[in-house]
Amino acid sequence: MNEEKDLKKKILIAEDDPISRRLLEVFLTRWGYQVSVAASGIEALELLEKADAPRLAVLDWMMPGLEGVQVCRKIRERKDRPYIYILLLSARTQKEDLLLGLESGADDYLTKPFDAQELRARLHVGQRILQLQDGLMVAGAELLFRATHDSLTGIANRDVILDSLRREHSRQVREGGSFGIVLLDVDHFKSVNDTFGHLCGDAVLQEVVRRVTSTVRAYDTVGRYGGEEFLIVAPSSGAEGILRLSERVRLAIETEPIKTDGGEISVTLSLGLAVSSEATPLDPKIMLSTADEALYRAKAEGRNRSEMGILEDSGSATIVEIAPVKIGSQ
Ligand code: GH3
Ligand code: MG
Ligand code: MG
Ligand code: MG
Repeated sequence: MNEEKDLKKKILIAEDDPISRRLLEVFLTRWGYQVSVAASGIEALELLEKADAPRLAVLDWMMPGLEGVQVCRKIRERKDRPYIYILLLSARTQKEDLLLGLESGADDYLTKPFDAQELRARLHVGQRILQLQDGLMVAGAELLFRATHDSLTGIANRDVILDSLRREHSRQVREGGSFGIVLLDVDHFKSVNDTFGHLCGDAVLQEVVRRVTSTVRAYDTVGRYGGEEFLIVAPSSGAEGILRLSERVRLAIETEPIKTDGGEISVTLSLGLAVSSEATPLDPKIMLSTADEALYRAKAEGRNRSEMGILEDSGSATIVEIAPVKIGSQ
C-alpha cells in the first residue's frame, strides 16, 4: 500500500537551469508529487541508483557532464532494478532529436517551453504504466511460484525437488563430500481418505509436510515427489546423519495424531534412504531407485520404519546388492 503511494508520489527532476528547475519543482509539488531535485545528470543518476529511488523522472536533455539521454542509457543498462519511467525535456524540436531521445530509453519526450497541463497529463500516463508494470511483475512472480510449488502443501514440486537433487549431485562432483536423500510415503493413506474423506486426507498431508519441514535442517530441501510421497534432499549427510534425520522425521509424525475437522488421525511414515558418499558417489537416478527399493522394503517389513539402501558395488551402473539397515518401532 505504502509502496503504491510512494510510486505515485515520488518524482525526480534533473535540470541545470535554476529558474526552470524551480518552476518544475513548484508545479510538481502543487500536483502532489514528492520531488527530488538534481542540478546535473551525474547527480540525477546518483539519486536514481539509490534503493528507494523515485520511479518517475523528468530529465532535461542538455546538462553539463552527463546529458539527459546519457542518464537514460545508463538507467536502462540496469536490468535488475525496478523500472523507472523517464520523460525527457528538451529545447530541441527536430524529429531526429525526438527519435534519439526515445532510442536512448526515454519513455516520453516534451519540448520546451512546455505546457504545464500537458506535462501533468503525460506524468499521469507514466504513473499508469508503472502500475501496469508492477502488476505484471507481481503476476509473473505468482506464476513462477505456482510453476515451482505444490499447490496443496506449498513446498517444492516434483520438478524442483529433482532439480535440487541434480544440483546437489553436481556440487558433490565438483567439491566432494557426501549427501543423502529420504523418500517417504504415508502408510495406508488410501484408508485415511476412505475413512475420513478426501478433504481430511488433504489436511493430513498438509500437517505431515508442516512437521517434516520443521524437523529437517535449514539447508535440507523437501518436495512433493508425487501423491503421498515426499523427497528430502539432505546436503552434507553421511549414512549416520541421514538415518538420524529420517528417524526424527518418522517420530515427528508417529508421536502425535493429526487433528482434522473429521477428528484426530494417526498416521505413520515409511522411509527409504540413499547416500551418495565420496567413496561411492551415486548419480541421481541410481540414488532414487536405491531409496525407492529401500522404501519398498520398509513397507514389506511392516511400515513405520526407515530402511537404508547401501550400494555394495559402486563400479557398476546397476545396483548389485542393497544391504538393508533396519530401524523402526516394530
Ligand atoms: P501404502 O502404505 O502401501 O503406501 O498404502 P497407501 O494406501 O498409502 O498407498 P496407495 O498408493 O494405495 O494409496 C495412496 C493414496 O493417496 C491414493 C490417493 O488417492 C491418495 N492421494 C494422493 N494424493 C492425494 C492428495 O493430494 N490428497 C488426498 N486426500 N489423497 C491423495
Ligand atoms: Mg539544460
Ligand atoms: Mg502410502
Ligand atoms: Mg505411495
